[in-house]
Amino acid sequence: MKKILIVEDNKTLAKLIAKKITSELNFEVEVAFNFKEAKLFLKTYKYFLVLSDLNLPDAPNGEIVDYALKKDNRVIVLTGSVDKKLRAALVKKEIVDYVSKSGANSIDYILQTIERLDKNQNHTVMVVDDSMIFRKQLQNMLENLCFKVVSVAHGEEALNMLQTNNDISLMVVDYLMPVMNGLELTIESRKIKNKYELAIMAFSSNEEDEITALFLKQGANDYITKPFSKEEFSCRVNNNIDHIENVKTIQESANKDFLTGLYNRRYFFNDMEKYFMDSSATNEKFAIAMIDIDSFKLINDEFGHETGDKVIINLADYLRESITHKNIIARFGGEEFCVVLKDIKDKDQAIDILENVRKEIEDIIVQCDKTKNGVTYTVSIGVSFKHDFTLDDSIHEADMMLYDAKQNGKNQIVYH
Ligand code: GH3
Ligand code: MG
Ligand code: MG
Repeated sequence: MKKILIVEDNKTLAKLIAKKITSELNFEVEVAFNFKEAKLFLKTYKYFLVLSDLNLPDAPNGEIVDYALKKDNRVIVLTGSVDKKLRAALVKKEIVDYVSKSGANSIDYILQTIERLDKNQNHTVMVVDDSMIFRKQLQNMLENLCFKVVSVAHGEEALNMLQTNNDISLMVVDYLMPVMNGLELTIESRKIKNKYELAIMAFSSNEEDEITALFLKQGANDYITKPFSKEEFSCRVNNNIDHIENVKTIQESANKDFLTGLYNRRYFFNDMEKYFMDSSATNEKFAIAMIDIDSFKLINDEFGHETGDKVIINLADYLRESITHKNIIARFGGEEFCVVLKDIKDKDQAIDILENVRKEIEDIIVQCDKTKNGVTYTVSIGVSFKHDFTLDDSIHEADMMLYDAKQNGKNQIVYH
């Protein structure tokens, strides 16, 4: 587990922060109450983050901060009060942030910052600037915030990156660059990625007022004027990443089923409409299978709704593991799932795959508190291979086949 070191001579505060972090976040915490102890910790371990007081009884002038930085740790400084002079001194150091200890929400702010840093590790930020010095500066600031960073010197290179690297969440772009300037790059980038997939933060020392508006109108999410403080830069970067993450969460919760994490019916139809058209243009063969748990009501009645949920989750997990990634798996509702097997050779190949699914499910045992032996279940499957139908008709056909499977005694596959 990743570790955080707290260095603070106020023992009550140190323990309170430590307790909050271990109970709310996924980190191990170590605590040092003075410089001597802190040095021992820092000699043996490189921390994900060091939260440190500035003034310690045995090091009254912020020595601990420089020491932790020298040992290559990220540092957030905890200060009593922050006046203008101290703020200026702190901002000069390569620290992630500083927090006033006396603020009512300061512990919440610390926790939010740690969470943000932890999540930043999943994001790549691309820096686009023709000045090597500035590029390096931005890269250091972003790496200090835990981002993966790629930096490029030209707009063309940036566009290539966007096309080949799917994980870029934020692009930080300079305005004045040779060949393609930042504004042109923003316009071109928006043809590849929209505002919700990629945040664009433009910056420039250009004093023309209309540049800000132009950038924003052409799809930049944010604009910052050079020279800017590291503090302002970090806050804006974090806000933009927050925004990208929030939209992603909303999109996922709209497209995914809460219980199983599989796609829901709504997403299925959106995705399938497109695939249905593409496959008819390329003559790709596919099978649509409706899979429904047999006598599921009895499982609910006998072992309770919670166990029923476990069985649904079990089937979802099984399908996710056994059906390869390019196929579509969706929960249509209740205990009914729809699977599309894409790019199949022929009917036999699809039926072999589904028959294997049906047989393997017979052997699954779902553990539950209500019965020592666990719960077993079976599924019925209706399949449609109709490509010359509409999507609705194909699904209706699979439904009819499923109905026949139920009528014929369940735990079987029916298709024409
Ligand atoms: P058949 O073999 O013909 O499919 O019969 P069945 O009992 O599986 O199907 P039926 O449609 O009669 O009942 C399905 C039950 O599933 C009814 C409903 O209360 C229950 N159900 C629907 N959604 C959920 C859910 O999310 N969790 C649980 N535990 N039960 C659910
Ligand atoms: Mg430039
Ligand atoms: Mg059922």
